[in-house]
Amino acid sequence: MDHLLTDTQRAWQQKAREFADAEIRPRSLARDQIAEPAGTFDWALMRKGSQLGIRTAAVPVEYGGHGIDFTTQALMITEMAKADSAMAKTFSQSWKWSHLIVDQGNAEQKRRFFDAFVKDDQFVMGGGITEPNAGSDNRLPPGDDPKAGLQLKAQLDGDTWVLNGSKCYIANANIGKLIFAFARTDPNAPVHEGTTIFAVEPGTPGLKVGKVFNKHGWRFYQNAELFFENVRVADSNRLGAINGAHKKHGGKNSRFGEMEYSANALGICDAAIEMAAAHGRAHRQAGKRLNEHQLFQLKLSEMHMLTEALRSFVMRVAMEADVTAPISRKHNGFLMNFSTDAMQRVCYLNLDIHRAANKGEISAQAEKLVRDAIIWTHIAGDSVTRLKAVKALL
Ligand SMILES: Cc1cc2nc3c(=O)[nH]c(=O)nc-3n(C[C@H](O)[C@H](O)[C@H](O)COP(=O)(O)OP(=O)(O)OC[C@H]3O[C@@H](n4cnc5c(N)ncnc54)[C@H](O)[C@@H]3O)c2cc1C
Repeated sequence: MDHLLTDTQRAWQQKAREFADAEIRPRSLARDQIAEPAGTFDWALMRKGSQLGIRTAAVPVEYGGHGIDFTTQALMITEMAKADSAMAKTFSQSWKWSHLIVDQGNAEQKRRFFDAFVKDDQFVMGGGITEPNAGSDNRLPPGDDPKAGLQLKAQLDGDTWVLNGSKCYIANANIGKLIFAFARTDPNAPVHEGTTIFAVEPGTPGLKVGKVFNKHGWRFYQNAELFFENVRVADSNRLGAINGAHKKHGGKNSRFGEMEYSANALGICDAAIEMAAAHGRAHRQAGKRLNEHQLFQLKLSEMHMLTEALRSFVMRVAMEADVTAPISRKHNGFLMNFSTDAMQRVCYLNLDIHRAANKGEISAQAEKLVRDAIIWTHIAGDSVTRLKAVKALL
């Protein structure tokens, strides 16, 4: 699909590729193998990416960013994920919340949040939806039961909101400078009717970071618990309307969401194919090169077929998102589900082609791709809800 790209899109893609080769790939395996989950993060990488404009790439130009489009975002995520999926996600995480500020922030908030974000190379953001008893439950039935879904409570007291409750698995909760907390402002309404977004800053009295989760994959990416005990947030830090968190559809944040993960999955597939092909050329089995065996060729063909189908789907949804075609919203969920299945199969085949794990760096890398790919099984809601997009076809 290269012929459809503009020179600007190609230039950003090239920048991401060079950054991935020079800075991400050399750090990938070493960071993944650090035992302490809070110790895997690398601020030097963040600073280097910031200086190239990658962290702020999705901030609109009028707020000091680069205003890159969805197609460029997808291309860059894929390039970076090919070197390390979790490091790619750490950069695109800033794009996700930049989109939310654009969608839901008022003029004063956009100026205030983007000013602080753009000038600080170490400014990362996060968003807190999931709680110990509410993950995919935020999307799955019973959708009309106020007891279902997130329960972090926010009550108005004068001109400040008082937040009580907890969150878990929140990306960047332990290192972020701004966390968007989704809280119930109407406890008697279903979660989609009674939720409001608050921008919470670290150091706010009553806000505590709990454990940093030790995940099997995406080990560079930081995910932590957050506890809110009478945390006071000024009304000026409320994003969007009271009870409006889930009511504003079709914004940049929702068009980005699942496309972001799928573009990342595509990078993992590209890495797996490159590894498998190199291994097939280098390794000998039964007196000839592995890639001369038909069974190997069939496995590599399947990996290639799934990856190229995924690439077409990712680019289609990204390009449609740029022209706000309604079809991309319908396909976003299908894309996420397809990318999960395709990538997990591709990574499994790559592992299968290699020798047993822990016999050297190459096998460790194949095993890492599988661990990173498994992360998709429990991320951003659930696969059943996404299939509901089929309604638009009925
Ligand atoms: C690496 C990583 C990063 C993350 N980052 C963030 C983040 O930054 N912010 C954030 O808010 N969250 C984050 N999450 C959390 C993520 O969104 C949730 O893990 C996801 O929504 C699934 O929720 P869960 O893990 O609680 O699983 P559950 O919701 O408990 O689901 C487990 C199983 O139960 C099933 N199930 C659940 N409810 C029902 C029901 N009502 N009916 C039938 N079946 C049901 C599901 O389909 C699934 O098969 C992250 C997770 C990971 C792994």
